[in-house]
Amino acid sequence: MLSALTPQAPDKILALMAAFREDPREAKIDLGVGVYKDATGLTPVMRAVKTAERQLVEAQDTKVYTGLAGDPVFADALSRLVLGDAWPADRLACVATPGGTSAIRQGLELIRMAAPDAALWLSMPTWPNHPAIANYLGVPVREYRYFDAETGGVDFAAMMDDLGRAATGDVVMLHGCCHNPTGANLTLDQWDAVADLIVERDLLPFVDIAYQGFGDGLDADAAGLRALVSKVPEALIAASCSKNFGIYRERTGLLMAIAPSAKRRQVTQGAMAALNRLNFSFPPDHGARVVQMILTDDTLRADWAAELEDVRKGMLSLREALATALRARTGSDRFGFLAAHRGMFSLLGATPEQVEVMRRDHGVYMVGDSRMNIAGLNAATVPILADAIVAAGV
Ligand code: PMP
Repeated sequence: MLSALTPQAPDKILALMAAFREDPREAKIDLGVGVYKDATGLTPVMRAVKTAERQLVEAQDTKVYTGLAGDPVFADALSRLVLGDAWPADRLACVATPGGTSAIRQGLELIRMAAPDAALWLSMPTWPNHPAIANYLGVPVREYRYFDAETGGVDFAAMMDDLGRAATGDVVMLHGCCHNPTGANLTLDQWDAVADLIVERDLLPFVDIAYQGFGDGLDADAAGLRALVSKVPEALIAASCSKNFGIYRERTGLLMAIAPSAKRRQVTQGAMAALNRLNFSFPPDHGARVVQMILTDDTLRADWAAELEDVRKGMLSLREALATALRARTGSDRFGFLAAHRGMFSLLGATPEQVEVMRRDHGVYMVGDSRMNIAGLNAATVPILADAIVAAGV
């Protein structure tokens, strides 16, 4: 049986990480992998997470299973963090999942269960796991234009044009904030217009929010999603705690479904719990419990929010520094979009050949589509990257 398996295509980012490790050059720069790194290149455990973990080890007296949906206190705390004033008390169904990836996976399973013919509309480009999971599950995928390589911004007219062709009941995947890989995001007005289109054409929005707090702040990053949620009858939301709590390996995520009525909420909640049962039974608890402890304790929460704010501001100043360095070298504002982008990533707009030149001649490692992890930079490497971008003729 196993001899029937064929080799999987190697993961491009993991291959890039391996090449980086083997590169003997001291001045090499890793802009590849999607984790936050501080100025010394480390991905630290956040202070509030350390404190909560210490308290948890002390106080926890059982490791018995939680519920199929995870601990409801976690779901309550995280859903309020995401949904804020748009929190729909009696219409919200939630299940904890192993990371944001599984929240997306479980959301797609729910769609397949309820509406097997619905197509999933994905931004072009998007996080490669979106189409990969959908294709594996047999969910039909369509693409909508999103990124304008000329301006480094969103081609909103093209996006609306493409979504205008979606069929009733189709699903529109939106990045809640800090679009991966482009860094280009919708304005609030644009979120409003998308929400109107979704209502008008009877589509289902599915929002993937994996970087809340990395862009303009915890509330600002969720503002578009909240505006959308307050307009539409139904929505799915996949939230990840990997980045904003720095608990990548703990696998902490939440799938939220906003049902059209309190009655439908119950059935939806049951279907989501059943899907958890079928895939992994009980979701992991450690990360979820740490998040729940932080969000429900004023002191821990304030400390976490303050550290997250430092992370966010650090990335913003690296963006400013890179845009300024490129302005000085090119005499133009051609790369101004790097300062306007938000989150960890920016799509530089370099060709694969230029990406290869930057790697070969300058030790700068970025993904082949020219996605850069801005958190891979520090004050010393910004000028090196700016030189490499100019020398490669980007
Ligand atoms: N969505 C997007 C857009 C992401 O970039 C990521 C992380 N790379 C995720 C979801 C899920 O992350 P995780 O499963 O690690 O929580």
